[in-house]
Amino acid sequence: MPLDLNTDIKYVNGVGPRKATLLNNDFKIFTVEDFIYHFPYKYIDRTKFYQICDLDANMPYIQLKGKIINFEKQKTKSKSILTAKFIDTTGGMDLVWFKGEKWILENIRTGIEYIIFGKPTVFNNKLNMSHPEIEEVEKYESGLNASLHGQYNTSEKMKENFLNSKAIQKIQQFIFKEIYGKVPETLPQYMIQKLFLMPINEALLTIHFPKDAETLSKAQYRIKFEELFFIQLNILKQKISRKENCQGYILKKENDNYTAKLFNQIPFSLTSAQIRVLQEIRKDVTSGKQMNRLLQGDVGSGKTLVALLSMLMAIDNGFQACIMAPTEILAQQHFVTITEAAKNLEIKIKLLTGSSKKSERKIISDELLNGELQILIGTHALIEDNVVFKNLGFVVIDEQHRFGVAQRAKLWKKSLNPPHILVMTATPIPRTLAMTVYGDLEISVIDELPPGRKPVKTLHFFEGSRLKVYGFIRRQIEEGRQIYIVYPLIEESETLDYKHLDEGVEIITETFPAPKYVTSVVHGRMKPADKEFGMKLFVSGKAHILVATTVIEVGVNVPNASVMIIESAERFGLSQLHQLRGRVGRGADQSYCVLMTGPKLSDDGKKRIETMVSTSDGFEIAEIDMHLRGPGDIEGTQQSGVPFELKLADLVKDTKILQYSRDIAEKILNHDPDLSKPNNQLLVKQLNKIANAKESWRKIS
Ligand code: ADP
Ligand code: MG
Repeated sequence: MPLDLNTDIKYVNGVGPRKATLLNNDFKIFTVEDFIYHFPYKYIDRTKFYQICDLDANMPYIQLKGKIINFEKQKTKSKSILTAKFIDTTGGMDLVWFKGEKWILENIRTGIEYIIFGKPTVFNNKLNMSHPEIEEVEKYESGLNASLHGQYNTSEKMKENFLNSKAIQKIQQFIFKEIYGKVPETLPQYMIQKLFLMPINEALLTIHFPKDAETLSKAQYRIKFEELFFIQLNILKQKISRKENCQGYILKKENDNYTAKLFNQIPFSLTSAQIRVLQEIRKDVTSGKQMNRLLQGDVGSGKTLVALLSMLMAIDNGFQACIMAPTEILAQQHFVTITEAAKNLEIKIKLLTGSSKKSERKIISDELLNGELQILIGTHALIEDNVVFKNLGFVVIDEQHRFGVAQRAKLWKKSLNPPHILVMTATPIPRTLAMTVYGDLEISVIDELPPGRKPVKTLHFFEGSRLKVYGFIRRQIEEGRQIYIVYPLIEESETLDYKHLDEGVEIITETFPAPKYVTSVVHGRMKPADKEFGMKLFVSGKAHILVATTVIEVGVNVPNASVMIIESAERFGLSQLHQLRGRVGRGADQSYCVLMTGPKLSDDGKKRIETMVSTSDGFEIAEIDMHLRGPGDIEGTQQSGVPFELKLADLVKDTKILQYSRDIAEKILNHDPDLSKPNNQLLVKQLNKIANAKESWRKIS
């Protein structure tokens, strides 16, 4: 039976049902097509031959040319060992086998030239190589003349069943002899030509059997481009079709009443970034299409004000608006800030959270339905089914990454047309990643802080300087400032050697004793009422010191708190450190962030601390964070629009290809928005294929 891409892998020569089951289970490889997309994870240069006299045990996999002069069998109690003496013109070494001896003795002969490939090791002070790959020079030279040999990922079970990297390569070789030239092209011919891309058959063959490094990199480029291109094409196409299909409420500028009033009352002038973003929003909400916009801006950059002014555009046109925040504390804080900012406007604003009383909920429900309530601020409680608006026109979602896309969608359903949506995040993500994770949103950036802000001074101290730090805290308190001290853990951990809050509270209350000093404590395992009490003590200025875990991370605003001490700072991720630092620097005084660490830092830990000390630019920090952690760990990526597993492309390293592929996708959609032209049908087919794969993937996992 001739092979094609859909052939079950078990029917391929050299596979069979048993190995096929392993491939199914360990690598989700079911068909010939799946198999040829199992790419090498690295390549070894097989053009270079080493000499025995140059070997040492630190070398990676290498190859030698020489002869076996004899075999020797040894039997110990538990196992038998086969040793062969291998020589080249410079010396000799032992080759060792612990299993498969029979095959070796039957197939490998003394006195003829072999190429052997493996990793040199030292045993009993002697160089040897165990289980080398072995091939006759003649056969080797007449085989596929690939100079770079792909190494394939395998599992332990696969290796036990003779499915090692070499075996996979052999199967690939067999498959490509059958199917080369028959893999259907996934990109239209005009793209291949105009973009100088390697055709699919050549690219796939080259990735498995590269002639040289240059051709390999061309082949990899083709595959990476294609992977990123289809992601972007998919996202952009969805964006276009939603724009076409989603009517949006038109918020006419002429109605500006509240907006203008608030604008005239603000005691400072807006930054140019705030003005630019407001213009972008204005353009969207007057367009007749529904707005979906992400607003990125560092803590303190003035996003809340932008959000309020945008909500007022809706209210001016007779609509309601809401803000959804990820935590109760944050919702409350938004409520306080917004109520204060809008106090002369005579609009009705209310707070709805999980702990709102039943009677209060009833009133809110009624007022929402009859339209009396204009701005509702709250937590997840807002998306519950029993929260029904009269005419919701504008939604602000704070800290997007804590809400899934599905939750965003639920809010849409709360009115006739989907409301305009503004997603705010203070965790900047690198631009290229944003194109993928938030690729279906328009993006606005506030890249400027209000004038007069003093940058937070960030210092790093080791444990040895603790007393100095306490002295500093004392002086700051004397000057009337308040201090945050944040711990990574609540209590002592047996496995993690980090500072913990329990001990911290003890030491701090001893070092800064009552009644002269008041210390307040907040952590995630406290009852909400206690947490609230602790927080209020600090917010009201009664407590000098707040000892806490990261529960204070987002959004808390105490302008008089000017010092942030982070204990065991090496334990925290970069974006978390940046968020924590954002708690200070909100008032007129010089603020400080002190990073305390243990004596030994990992390379990554050191890099994180150095980054914090040297920059306060959220985007720069996000970029470094992404390089340290990889894109998969950046918050938000998991629930993102990345529709399939990337085989070769890397969202961190391949940002240029990503940008390029997005540009190309945009150009194509500009000419053919619904991809209806004949020469784009291949693209439609491929998008459908990806969507189906994603669907069945969802069913599996
Ligand atoms: P974010 O939500 O982005 O963290 P906020 O909106 O909470 O920032 O703003 C932080 C502080 O800066 C608030 O006290 C706010 O009143 C103030 N602020 C906002 N915009 C400006 C501005 N253009 N000039 C001066 N202060 C501003
Ligand atoms: Mg804020």
